[in-house]
Amino acid sequence: MSEVYEKPQPVIDPGTKPFWDAAREHRLSIPRCRSCGKHHFYPRELCPHCHSDDLEWTDVGGKGEVYSYTIARKPAGPVFAADVPYVIAMIVLDEGPRMLTNIVTEDVEKVRIGDRVTVRFDDVTPELTLPKFTLDKD
Ligand code: ZN
Repeated sequence: MSEVYEKPQPVIDPGTKPFWDAAREHRLSIPRCRSCGKHHFYPRELCPHCHSDDLEWTDVGGKGEVYSYTIARKPAGPVFAADVPYVIAMIVLDEGPRMLTNIVTEDVEKVRIGDRVTVRFDDVTPELTLPKFTLDKD
């Protein structure tokens, strides 16, 4: 890919680096608590369920369902103009946590709350891969 990626890029800090490293390898990885066994997202220093700091990064299945969504019809800036309309969605992963992401679909009107979705990975630069989701019914 020789195109320049002009969109805003996520801030990658030590707390989120494992997530982005995994995404680059096309894995969806989120923190899991060794004490209570529950996953959470976004990454935190303490488990939001039991406040343990005994956390580990684990790969998850990359499947879930649409919890809520909005269709963006006006670009957030000129670099997004070619993308509209697009879908911004809150996904509930099968492992429990919610994740704010995009749903990639030809027909944004088709998206419904409760739709099953599967992760896919967009390599936008050699360093950055964005996890997005597609509709299983697509
Ligand atoms: Zn816990």
